[in-house]
Amino acid sequence: MLKILSLIVGELGVNCYIPYCEQTRQCVVIDPGGSVDRILGLIKENNLQLKYILLTHGHFDHIGAVNELKEKTGARVAVHPEDSEMLMDPAKNLSSFVGGEPINVSADIMVEDGMELQVSNIKLQVIHTPGHTKGGVSYLGDGVIFTGDTLFAGSIGRTDLPGGNYKILIKSIREKLLVLDDNLVIYPGHGPSSTIGNEYASNPYLQSGEEFL
Ligand SMILES: [Zn+2]
Ligand SMILES: [Zn+2]
Repeated sequence: MLKILSLIVGELGVNCYIPYCEQTRQCVVIDPGGSVDRILGLIKENNLQLKYILLTHGHFDHIGAVNELKEKTGARVAVHPEDSEMLMDPAKNLSSFVGGEPINVSADIMVEDGMELQVSNIKLQVIHTPGHTKGGVSYLGDGVIFTGDTLFAGSIGRTDLPGGNYKILIKSIREKLLVLDDNLVIYPGHGPSSTIGNEYASNPYLQSGEEFL
């Protein structure tokens, strides 16, 4: 049975999620943007064993704790190849412009659209949802989807940063996310959770017709 822990990390308030298998206690961490001690504390408190660090994309606010988490647990880091260069380049992941430590992360696993990652009884399917960044992905699990900065409750990711593209983002959301089950719970990279049905019905960015496509 899939269970999910979550915590808010970093100055930009990134949602870091820890989906885990209730029986075997194996887990993954999605977007550890900071606060490595709190993430490790939550893992320990819940008696979990970390297998993978999954990234929805390569921006600094989602990757700040990756290196330390990887060092301390041996977990492997997964990202889409279109964002892997961004991880390694503080100018591209924007960490060199925000006043903190420059961040330089190398990934171990390249995820592609349709790929399935399995941890015990948990399956997470990779859905490539470019538009916020070229290599942005969502991770689809049993009844849940982790959408990173692609789709938020009542909003969508910004497209004015390098690699961003408004038309491509809208196309990703419409063709890859809104087609999924209405009851699917959305866990976004920032802000509160939602459902596919809610966003389909009321997200102001997704209400207009074909002119965006
Ligand atoms: Zn982002
Ligand atoms: Zn973000």
